[in-house]
Amino acid sequence: MRALTELTDAELAAAVQHHGGQPFQGRQVSHWVWKHGVTDFAAMRNVPARLRQDLATAFTVRSTQVAKRDLADDGTQKLLLALADGETIECVLIPDGDRTTLCVSTQVGCPVACVFCASGLFGVRRNLTAGEIAEQVLVARAELPADRSITNLVVMGMGEPMLNLDALLPALQRIHAADGIGMGARRITVSTSGYPRQMERFAAADPSYNLAVSLHAADDTLRKQLVPTASTPVREIVAAAHRYFGQKGREVTYEVVLLEGRNDRPQDAEAMVETLGALPCTVNLIPWNPVEEIAAQRGLRRPGTARVDAFAELLRSGGLKVTVRRQRGADRSAACGQLRLRTQTSA
Ligand code: SF4
Repeated sequence: MRALTELTDAELAAAVQHHGGQPFQGRQVSHWVWKHGVTDFAAMRNVPARLRQDLATAFTVRSTQVAKRDLADDGTQKLLLALADGETIECVLIPDGDRTTLCVSTQVGCPVACVFCASGLFGVRRNLTAGEIAEQVLVARAELPADRSITNLVVMGMGEPMLNLDALLPALQRIHAADGIGMGARRITVSTSGYPRQMERFAAADPSYNLAVSLHAADDTLRKQLVPTASTPVREIVAAAHRYFGQKGREVTYEVVLLEGRNDRPQDAEAMVETLGALPCTVNLIPWNPVEEIAAQRGLRRPGTARVDAFAELLRSGGLKVTVRRQRGADRSAACGQLRLRTQTSA
């Protein structure tokens, strides 16, 4: 059965009419789904009972369910979601003061295969649908206490967002639209490991979302070691990101997962300054959140604070704006894809 979250407004209106309702009742149903987040047709109180019953014979409200919850001491909450076909994905709620950021996935698994990431360990199984992407916001929102709401959305979970734009763009539209979830575009950031052609398509989308590029290294040879599927030279990725800035006026963030001795050396900082130094951007340093299985297999280590600070200082002295991400949820499968990996390997 299809879920209502998969339908466009026009499809929902047509479905309502097909079951004997009026077009405006399609908007009422949509309101219950996206604004109120109901999961049951019976809760749609202003929709006639007969129409609700008929719709329930043809549709479910949503297609995903929480399969597992993991709450860290710092409040970071990771959710493992079961999809209708039995696949699983992750999304993460990250509270920070008044802000609550939700990180969502766009694919089951990931084809990019970054050496430090659990999500890419077994490749990609399939793209998520637009409904499955947007539903993560509904499901996660329901996990929050009444006095908190999701203030920011980052599309940085499992998968490469630029390789699933057909589903991502309508999902973001639903999340952003006033008659959808209603989240401001400035609060939405999409992260890519760098696909210039798709970044151009993303730039043509209206409204303008924030763009982050997972760079990890400015030197092509080193980057290829960290992101083995990377085939686009760094200079082309940076040029595409800079065009995005030119078109949208949104400053690009470059994400760098730091691995001790691999990409946190002084020469790595110098290469980054040389590549990005003259551009309006921010570099966000993320000391690697170790995934036990990967650390043991590949000999990767999280750098200590002194190394991270020294790297940040070299970038700053080269004129770059730098932020360092605090570790979140370190005690509970915090790295991307880790909860799913643990669940799969213990099954
Ligand atoms: S870090 Fe992101 S792009 Fe890289 S393998 Fe993991 S999910 Fe994919």
